[in-house]
Amino acid sequence: MATISFDNTENAFAYKSDKDLSRAKFLFNTMNYPFFVPLGTRITPILVKGKFPFINKLIRDTIFKQFVGGESLEATKVTCELLKKYDVQVILDYAVEGKEGEANFDHATDVFIKVINFAATQSNIPFISVKVTGIARFGLLETLNEAPRLRSGVHDHEEESAELERVKDRMYAICSAAAEKNIGVLIDAEDSWIQDPIDKLTMEMMAEFNKEKVVVYNTMQLYRHDRLEFLKLSHKIAQQQNFLLGAKLVRGAYMEKERERALSKNYLSPIQATKEDTDRDFNLAVRYCIENINSVSTIIASHNEQSSMLGYELLKGKNLPFNHPHVHFSQLFGMSDNITFNLAKEGCNVSKYLPFGPIKDVIPYLMRRAQENSSVKGQTGRELTLIKREVARRKLK
Ligand SMILES: Cc1cc2nc3c(=O)[nH]c(=O)nc-3n(C[C@H](O)[C@H](O)[C@H](O)COP(=O)(O)OP(=O)(O)OC[C@H]3O[C@@H](n4cnc5c(N)ncnc54)[C@H](O)[C@@H]3O)c2cc1C
Repeated sequence: MATISFDNTENAFAYKSDKDLSRAKFLFNTMNYPFFVPLGTRITPILVKGKFPFINKLIRDTIFKQFVGGESLEATKVTCELLKKYDVQVILDYAVEGKEGEANFDHATDVFIKVINFAATQSNIPFISVKVTGIARFGLLETLNEAPRLRSGVHDHEEESAELERVKDRMYAICSAAAEKNIGVLIDAEDSWIQDPIDKLTMEMMAEFNKEKVVVYNTMQLYRHDRLEFLKLSHKIAQQQNFLLGAKLVRGAYMEKERERALSKNYLSPIQATKEDTDRDFNLAVRYCIENINSVSTIIASHNEQSSMLGYELLKGKNLPFNHPHVHFSQLFGMSDNITFNLAKEGCNVSKYLPFGPIKDVIPYLMRRAQENSSVKGQTGRELTLIKREVARRKLK
């Protein structure tokens, strides 16, 4: 039986002009230089604060253009429309990070609601993503995380402080706007030492808004050795409380930081011992969600070709429609077009995670992308090979 191929570069890069392709090739090549990314990720945040116009222009024309949709919500429209031509959907992400203070949290809430309203006017933006640290003080989440733990793994007995109430109100405002406009809200997973209150808040929102359809999704980081169990537990709670579970599956973006903290504070690292363990749990989570497709809606958020293929093959093997509303695939904008566009061609629900925000505010996001793409063995090697192959194919035409 014929199957999908993630090697088809013609599909993968059909949306890119020759110029776009050579810019991407230059960028991924540059990120491959051994000292470039370690040095760049240290000095770029400082240089950006220095407000040198040429630095901003350099960033805007290179890494920003590759990984970000624009500096404003309106600016993302061009990219959203381009993706739509290829049946690719969008998860819109207001990527401003690291801003604290009640005024900033209220402002971010307003922006999230604006993003929802904008998404509702476009036919290919089914989701927005939300970082709870964008609407809550990191220190508050840390304190809540320390509160006594229930057997379920979720904390209880925290003081229902006015500050926490305001966080809940913000979450509620975002989720109810989304429910009204039929847009999904994906709550990002963050550092393990603030994750329990994020999980708890998200479960509360799911219980409220996921009765008839899935509006709210939590994120499970399968690089944590406890998250497969957590996924199953979340499902059990959802069934007991009669709501649908939304589960975005990721491997996890903060591995080094997690390991270093565990080592320095002398506690057991929450991270799996090996990459194989992470891969195993991620794939088991994909299987679990698709096996429970009636009560779990999943987003397979990954650049891993085996995991994406597994999702596709499971749908096919079970004779489920590729565009089943409870299975969605997603890759970050600027990465793994070979997965996104080939899945879209097959009729799967697939999206690009498209961040936007002013350059100075999306630097942490960009630095994570640079780090992720700096190893020749890893993603960059694969991206470069595919880009070079497509450049060669076009030359032969
Ligand atoms: C749409 C989308 C949304 C995302 N949202 C989030 C989010 O909310 N929170 C978040 O943390 N991340 C998020 N990510 C990032 C994601 O967690 C991964 O960092 C990234 O996608 C790389 O993993 P991969 O599945 O693509 O595949 P791969 O490239 O196969 O895997 C790389 C990942 O494997 C894990 N890994 C690598 N080496 C080891 C090792 N030695 N031991 C154990 N594990 C190892 C790490 O998680 C690493 O990032 C998101 C990604 C996407 C595409």
